[in-house]
Amino acid sequence: MRIAEMTFVEYEARLRETDPVVVIPAGALEQHGPHLPLATDAIIPTRLAEMAAPRINGLIAPAFTYGVRSQPKSGGGEHFCGTTSLWGSTYALMLSDVVQAFGRHGVKKLVILDGHSENQHFLVEGIERALIELRRDGITDMRVIRLGYWTTISQSVQDVLFPTGPVNWDLEHAAVMETSVMMHLEPGLVRLDKIPDEPMAVFPPYETFPLDPRPIPSCGALSSARAATAEKGRVVVDSLLDDFATIIPSAFA
Ligand SMILES: [Zn+2]
Repeated sequence: MRIAEMTFVEYEARLRETDPVVVIPAGALEQHGPHLPLATDAIIPTRLAEMAAPRINGLIAPAFTYGVRSQPKSGGGEHFCGTTSLWGSTYALMLSDVVQAFGRHGVKKLVILDGHSENQHFLVEGIERALIELRRDGITDMRVIRLGYWTTISQSVQDVLFPTGPVNWDLEHAAVMETSVMMHLEPGLVRLDKIPDEPMAVFPPYETFPLDPRPIPSCGALSSARAATAEKGRVVVDSLLDDFATIIPSAFA
């Protein structure tokens, strides 16, 4: 189901014969605290897509592993070593080129599964630009959906993740949700002895330019990740896979 591991002959036949859903995981290379790998935002949607594939007739495209520039209030910002990003304009053009190629090769159902919140508006620009170009060439039968993988996490799952009460989702960077999901999906990549437990970041209501890094926790996580567990990660992943199995086929019905 990984397109990168198929031959072009196999891929072409699969497109023609089964009209699959192609999933592009959209991640980032961004600091995720001292305990999670830089590619966390690519690893999670890639693994989710691979696990969902049998239930959605899915093929998985190589992930976009460089994301749109990290914002201080959602990913810590660009000043961390290893946070390696694209300007939004570059990103939208790259995505547009790839979406167009999939459309020209006969993909009719495309899911962009986003793992990095800063990508979202530039994903939309790339998708819309690609569809305009395809339409100009008479290709009108491709549909694309953009889905942040976390979007459907229900209140009952949030109650498991955060039993002490609601959280600020913007500050969940490298915190309980991502850490729990990685502990479940990729336990070998989580540095358990480095999980940070610093208080939640407090930002002013404005943004300063040049960047004032002082409100940003130097550990990189914007909230404590101490309450993360692999079991919480399992609950999140199982519910997301059920959601995808319903949402994605119905989006293309
Ligand atoms: Zn992340």
